[in-house]
Amino acid sequence: MKRASILLIYTGGTIGMKTDAATGTLVPFDFNGIYEEFPSLRRLAVDIEVSQFRPIDSSNVTPELWVRLAELIRDNYARHDGFVVLHGTDTMSYSASALSFMLENLCKPVVFTGSQIPIGVLRTDGRENLITAIEIAAARDAAGRALVPEVSLYFQNRLFRANRSSKRSAEELNAFRSENYPPLAEVGVSIHYNMPFIRKAENPCDTLSISTELDAGVAIVKIFPGLSEPIFRAMLSIPGVKAIVLETYGAGNAPTEEWFLSALREVIARGVIVVNVTQCSGGSVSMDLYETGMGLRNAGVVSGHDLTTEAAVTKLMYVLGRKKSREETLDMLKQPIKGEISGEQFF
Ligand code: ASP
Repeated sequence: MKRASILLIYTGGTIGMKTDAATGTLVPFDFNGIYEEFPSLRRLAVDIEVSQFRPIDSSNVTPELWVRLAELIRDNYARHDGFVVLHGTDTMSYSASALSFMLENLCKPVVFTGSQIPIGVLRTDGRENLITAIEIAAARDAAGRALVPEVSLYFQNRLFRANRSSKRSAEELNAFRSENYPPLAEVGVSIHYNMPFIRKAENPCDTLSISTELDAGVAIVKIFPGLSEPIFRAMLSIPGVKAIVLETYGAGNAPTEEWFLSALREVIARGVIVVNVTQCSGGSVSMDLYETGMGLRNAGVVSGHDLTTEAAVTKLMYVLGRKKSREETLDMLKQPIKGEISGEQFF
């Protein structure tokens, strides 16, 4: 089989830092020197081309970066077998989720990764994350088809579906989780691909198209005991907001008090979409289970099922950007678009 060709895109984050030998401070690493830094990469049957953005800490990521990434992948799609995106860990799940919605007719791997320790520090987790992400992006079957033709996130021995992942630890090297969907691959002595859980290549497969219209009129409102009516009403009345991700308790529960529900009814009557996701790191919203969930359903709140907050926010930006009717928008929210929510049988 011919050597795989990978485009390595560096956007910023901890993975791109190394210690300056003279000063001992962290300075940006030039990924164009990747083979000199990691000669072992030459042992992979992969050609790596590098594209570097002006590095930013991922706390400064905006949807503009997602559009640039989508355009770069589209413009280089035909020339490469896979793409590896190096990204700061803090918002990596948001960016990876966004790209999962924005890339259409995707048949090649797009693997996000980063690290908790800079790549130029001896004990870095970045070296393994980088090398394995490249290996996964290049992996093809005997017929030359990509093994993981979807947007994914690789971290510490596990490959996750991008829009199922969340950063869960600021300290552990094992920083990401996918509580509601199994890993797409697990890495030990060899890479074990969990084939039944990997999305099939999309059809048609010849050209990648991208959706770059994202509507950032989205807010996250997290409820907590002690939340008062004036504060809740203020949180719902954000000027320009078109959709709210409401982070509720447990299986999608919230106070049953009339002021709470009528505040929601009013905002929904104004045309704002409210999607219910759980504050728990795993499990699903079920608004039929308790009175505290039913109140939300009757107020017109949409169930986010087992969506992560990251996937809910980015899916809303993508769906609102398509400027569909309210009915069509709600339909798109209820259905999985890119495997971000589990099917009916799950509920
Ligand atoms: N603050 C960094 C970032 O997200 C952290 C990291 O990369 O791990 O860009």
